[in-house]
Amino acid sequence: MKNIVVLGSTGSIGKNTLEVARNLKDKFRVIGLSSNSRWELLADQVEEFKPRYVALNDCQFAEKLKYRFQNNQLKILMGGNCLKEIVLHPEVDIVVSAVVGAVGLPAAIATIEQGKTLALANKESLVMAGHIVMSLARKDQILPVDSEHSAIFQSLHSGKPAEVKRVIITASGGPFYDYPADKLSDVKPAQALKHPTWQMGQKITIDSATLMNKALEIIEAKWLFDLKVEQIDVVIHPQSIIHSMVEFCDGSVIAQMGMPDMKVPIQYALTYPERSPLCVRPLDLSSIGSLTFKKPDMEKFPALRLGYQAAREGGTMGATLNAANEVAVQAFLNGQIQFTEITSYVEKVINNHHFIKNPCLEDILAADVWARQEIKKCLM
Ligand code: NDP
Ligand code: MG
Repeated sequence: MKNIVVLGSTGSIGKNTLEVARNLKDKFRVIGLSSNSRWELLADQVEEFKPRYVALNDCQFAEKLKYRFQNNQLKILMGGNCLKEIVLHPEVDIVVSAVVGAVGLPAAIATIEQGKTLALANKESLVMAGHIVMSLARKDQILPVDSEHSAIFQSLHSGKPAEVKRVIITASGGPFYDYPADKLSDVKPAQALKHPTWQMGQKITIDSATLMNKALEIIEAKWLFDLKVEQIDVVIHPQSIIHSMVEFCDGSVIAQMGMPDMKVPIQYALTYPERSPLCVRPLDLSSIGSLTFKKPDMEKFPALRLGYQAAREGGTMGATLNAANEVAVQAFLNGQIQFTEITSYVEKVINNHHFIKNPCLEDILAADVWARQEIKKCLM
């Protein structure tokens, strides 16, 4: 029996994680849950899973939760440090980091430092500080939840690290892959929020439309699998059936496939190195008919180019790119900027920043703060 904490349990990955835990009650006990402000949904989850700890970023909502569970043994943590505090409890075996954004980094580092397993959906932690996070982690301490990285992780088991030639990350291409480039600037948030194959939180859905998500995934793959940037390719695969591939030195390409369903990589991260039965739509290739592949268009989707640039340069580049993008996505969702301005503002910010090649955590956090202030100036 393993004790798990789900950071961001009210989000898309968080809810899928709880569904996996619900089906594997004999293997996992949910002892911690967390959210930002959706306290009512969190309260329902507390009723069902009866965790020992709950963390709410928003103190006002945490007080409401306290009132609702006043006669309960539940320990309620609140405020900016609560994600980090909840993972420190000694009974915790596995932390599923399913929060969105830079806020996940301190908890990811604390999890690793405590020797606990980190099932990582929060790719931003690696984008910002992959060199720090990976240098602290032992082999297989971080298990990828991101579907592409889970696919690569699974495919890598077919050979030795030195035998890997390259990885091929698949991308659905998002809702605008075939949309005329000259009309992209007029795209509205409601259109960008309609992802063709995956149901996800708002931020990653917009990132999938700009292809910034793939940019972040290039950086994530570089750190997770200790790859050179030249070993990372991206291919557009609109059906999202092949979740990614690894090419070995003998020309063999190993792919992991399945219907798009995040419960598969989540469960694999939780049960690794074993597998457990999971009720998912079976892959029926004859009804799908054809799997198609295209080269990504970096002119139309410059975010991908920025991802390669940030992966190549390393240092504070990832943290700056991530922070600027978080603010730009929110500004687009608020109707303050055009769809195409998300990437153009991010590019401006990363190219103006005071680059540090070997940053410590303080440098990373300072770069994050700077990038947020800098992009806000562009928005005024
Ligand atoms: P959602 O927006 O659906 O959920 C985000 C979760 O984080 C919610 O529980 C939210 O709480 C919580 N949260 C947000 N801000 C804060 C904060 N400041 N402090 C504490 N908690 C916070 O996101 P997703 O589930 O889609 O994505 C989560 C992560 O997983 C992201 O890093 C994403 O890139 C990654 N990922 C997601 C995939 C997907 O299919 N969704 C696929 C691969 C990776 P509240 O509900 O109260 O707002
Ligand atoms: Mg992904």
